[in-house]
Amino acid sequence: MKLLEYQSKELLRRYGVPLPRSGGLVRAAGHLGKALKELGRGPWVLKSQVFSGGRGAAGGIRLVRTAQEAACAAGELLGKRLVTAQNAPEGETVRALWVEGALEISRELYVSVSIHRGLGRPVFTFCAEGGVEIERLARESPEKIRTAVLEEGEFRPHQLRGWTDGLELPSGAGERFQEIVGSLIRIFMEQDASTLEINPLIWTAQGEWVALDAKVILDDNALYRHPEYLKLAQKSEEYSKAERKALEAGISYVSMDGEIGCMVNGAGLAMATLDMIHLAGGRAANFLDVGGGADAQQVRRGFELLLSDRKVRAVLVNIFGGILRCDVVARGLLDAFRKLRLGVPLVMRLEGTRVEEGRKLLGASGLSVIGAETLADAAQRAVAAARKV
Ligand code: GDP
Ligand code: MN
Repeated sequence: MKLLEYQSKELLRRYGVPLPRSGGLVRAAGHLGKALKELGRGPWVLKSQVFSGGRGAAGGIRLVRTAQEAACAAGELLGKRLVTAQNAPEGETVRALWVEGALEISRELYVSVSIHRGLGRPVFTFCAEGGVEIERLARESPEKIRTAVLEEGEFRPHQLRGWTDGLELPSGAGERFQEIVGSLIRIFMEQDASTLEINPLIWTAQGEWVALDAKVILDDNALYRHPEYLKLAQKSEEYSKAERKALEAGISYVSMDGEIGCMVNGAGLAMATLDMIHLAGGRAANFLDVGGGADAQQVRRGFELLLSDRKVRAVLVNIFGGILRCDVVARGLLDAFRKLRLGVPLVMRLEGTRVEEGRKLLGASGLSVIGAETLADAAQRAVAAARKV
């Protein structure tokens, strides 16, 4: 789950990371005055709260000096779509502005903690030249970006020795920097983040470190360990309505753009199924991973979700029964169709544990199912069926 900037900063604040002063979140232009008053004299910064980065370059971050300028900028941003290099071409609607007191920047750094998939370890990444040009810098001068591998999720301060030297900071700044990095890594580990990025972390003209921006992505698979974030996810605009319902039900479900609804068990089988659909010339509308331990009720709820997607023109069920038994899947499906009308063709490939029982149950039900032997066969039938509807 992606956190918006203000949510990320709330988290940072809990761990003592220094942040700009804030006047709060403004969802309507009428509430701007209160936020500015809270902060006192300008200049202020109005920051569009959208998930994608690149807001500054797209005009979504406004430095304003007077209340009038602020009102004008708020009017231009609130309720409008902000198209950035990262969310183009659709953009995202700006539903809220995060208002902060502006700071005088002396140095802009890039710091992040993320997972290095090749190494299978968290890494800390640093660049002395942070800010809105970081992507270009990563392309043109990758040698300026340094990383430290975090063994056991911890960093040893010596790993960062000398990294801030070229910045010519006053004494003490380096130690304070290491403390902040330590906090960021602690947040990353304790909150089960997959990304935590501060760009920029600034050194102000007044001689303080401040996290000017913050982007946190939490690992969805660990949300069950963080009930407060699970609740947030169920309301987050990052997810479709069906995905939010799935989170609530503890079902793994992903919305996509195509026309074939997929029910599979296991992430690997899901990937293979999507590939086969693609090879057969179709595209998946979603996929539902019922996993290993689903019961009939979860299968039913999952199927209801999958069918609630209007894009679905055919359904492909691809189950390789291992721990999850085929008769349990069959029972879940039949349960679902007691309430739902199946308006689209259903292609089914069932294999594995108790497949005979599963097939018998489905056969006896009179439900119209297009059977398939192999995965390739199933994908082709689903694509053909979707075209006919
Ligand atoms: P992003 O473009 O989505 O990453 O949004 P940021 O929050 O990083 O803001 C973009 C840029 O706006 C920063 O890199 C800063 O250069 C600038 N900016 C943001 N807040 C302030 C501020 O308080 N003072 C000044 N001078 N610049 C700011
Ligand atoms: Mn930024």
